[in-house]
Amino acid sequence: MANLVLFGPPGAGKGTQSERLIEKYGFIHLSTGDILRGEIKAQTTRGLEAKKLMDAGDLVPDDVVIGMIEHKIETAVGAKGFIFDGFPRTVAQAEALDSALESHGLAIDAMIALAVPDDELRTRLLERGKTSGRADDQNLDKINNRISVYKDETMPVAEFYSGQNKYKGVHGVGSIDSIFSDICSVIEDL
Ligand code: ADP
Repeated sequence: MANLVLFGPPGAGKGTQSERLIEKYGFIHLSTGDILRGEIKAQTTRGLEAKKLMDAGDLVPDDVVIGMIEHKIETAVGAKGFIFDGFPRTVAQAEALDSALESHGLAIDAMIALAVPDDELRTRLLERGKTSGRADDQNLDKINNRISVYKDETMPVAEFYSGQNKYKGVHGVGSIDSIFSDICSVIEDL
C-alpha cells in the first residue's frame, strides 16, 4: 500500500476525496487542519495558540505541525498506508516528513495534486462557510489570504516532490466521482 500526499489549494476537495480513498483502500488519514481543529475544540494550549492564525488564514508554525505529525506517524506505524492531507504545506515540513518516514523505513510514494482555478476555490469556500462554522471560510479577505499563502509558501512543495519524480497532477474540477476515479487510476498505476 502507498503513502500519499494529497495536495492542492484550500477548497480543492482534499477532505472529500480523502474520505472516499479511506473507504476504498483503508488508508490512515492524517489531516493537520482536522487535528488542529480538534485541539481548538479540546481547548489545549496548542489549539488556543493556533486558533488566531487559522482564523486569519495564516499558517501555524512548522515546528507545531511537524511535532503533531511525527506523533501520529509513531502511533500508526504498521498501518496500510497514509494519506497526508493539508500537510506538508512548506518545504521545511516536506523535509521533516521525509525524515520522519525514513526513520520507520517508509517513504512517500506519490503526491497527488488537485488543480482548481482560484475563482472556483472562492466560490466553493464561501459555500462551505455557510455550513462549516469555520471562520476562515466566511470572509473573502481571509479566503484570498489563504490562496496567496498557498501560492507563496505551499506551491514550492510541489517542486520538492517533482524533484523526486513523485508529482501526479489531477484536474480537480468536475464531478466528485470523476475526480475520484482519476485519483484511483493514479494510485493503481503506482
Ligand atoms: P484548507 O485546506 O481548507 O485551507 P485545512 O483544514 O487544511 O484547510 O487548514 C486550515 C488552517 O489550519 C490553515 O489555514 C492553517 O492555518 C492551519 N494548518 C493546517 N495544516 C497546516 C500545516 N501543515 N502547516 C501550517 N498550518 C496549517
